[in-house]
Amino acid sequence: MEKEIKCPLYKKCGGCQIHNLDYEKQLEFKMRKVVKLLGKFHHVNKIIGMDNPYHYRNKVQAAFGRDKHNRIISGVYQSSTHKIVPVDSCLIEDIKADEIIVTIRKLIKSFKLKPFDDNNMTGFLRHVLVKRGFSSGEIMVVLVTGTQEFKSKRSFINALLSRHPEITTIVQNINNRHTSLVLGDKSIVLYGNGTIKEQLCGYTFTISPKAFYQINPIQTEVLYNKAMEFAEISKDDIVIDAYCGTGTIGIIASKYAGRVIGVELNPDAVRDARKNAKINNVENIDFICDDAGKYMVRLAEESLKADVVIMDPPRAGSDINFLKSVVKLSPKKVVYVSCNPETLKRDLTYLSKNKYKVRKIQPVDMFPHTEHVECVVLMSRVEK
Ligand code: SAH
Repeated sequence: MEKEIKCPLYKKCGGCQIHNLDYEKQLEFKMRKVVKLLGKFHHVNKIIGMDNPYHYRNKVQAAFGRDKHNRIISGVYQSSTHKIVPVDSCLIEDIKADEIIVTIRKLIKSFKLKPFDDNNMTGFLRHVLVKRGFSSGEIMVVLVTGTQEFKSKRSFINALLSRHPEITTIVQNINNRHTSLVLGDKSIVLYGNGTIKEQLCGYTFTISPKAFYQINPIQTEVLYNKAMEFAEISKDDIVIDAYCGTGTIGIIASKYAGRVIGVELNPDAVRDARKNAKINNVENIDFICDDAGKYMVRLAEESLKADVVIMDPPRAGSDINFLKSVVKLSPKKVVYVSCNPETLKRDLTYLSKNKYKVRKIQPVDMFPHTEHVECVVLMSRVEK
């Protein structure tokens, strides 16, 4: 591993809660956390860390505003506040994305465009979101604006592209509501096709402004390969990819499976997932846009069969309807990918009381320097 580098904004920003620890110590911290929460279910495998735990974030977001001297600033909100900590470069963010954000800040000043002011809901630029394809090199810039009107739009875009010809698409997203969400409902493509491509485990994926996509490309491969290894899918298995996002896990699983069904609530993600299946010529997969719990209840009521359920819910974990239906459907295996060991513990407790036993637990460090830890867990049905 490279020499430890320390961030001068560590205390002010609050995004990297355990940055004060050397990387090896961070891994030990996460390992202890997982063992404490999940150790009663099974032995926990050693956490898989990164060789170079810096600049891994391929999605970078900056809020725009003014400091007390009225200068335009861009950066991150201080943890649980609405105060912007100015950031020009960050140790965990993609370097190119940070450079683009700094350029935009300089450009809006010279174009006399105003940063948005949340207090009186005036001004123009609220946030900039940059997503970068790690293996494709493609770059998307999303300008989140408080108004649709965009003064000197063409010249602004041209100025940005002349400084960063590596940008492959630019999108304007309009968010004029009083909200802590970054993106609004309406997007207008200003340059390129509005999406970027990324390669993962040998497949190509489309990433759009709104759909969820894992933010650490190197560790995502590690995580998904583990999930596949645990699932041991065979050719006539029916696999459910629940909370499937843009279909990544399901598409990767499709080559081992008979049939895959992906379930996802966000319509943008489902649209991307269908597109992704097409780009990769995957024909044994279908995507359903629905609440994963409701869909599973329906499957269970229709007494359909599923051999493997792979689930990757958001931080809140799964819900009781979903878990009850898993038990009713009774797949041989459940592979649970989780970004929150607390809700994972809650859900494993339920499944452990209902026909399932934990067989493997693998933590993966997807978010170095932060307190977060990802886990893949294999459970299998206990035969009577
Ligand atoms: N497996 C994907 C996405 C995981 S993130 C990947 O690795 O890329 C969790 C996903 O669950 C998000 O795409 C979110 O939109 C979706 N989601 C949240 N609540 C849901 C629900 N109740 N039913 C179905 N999907 C849901």
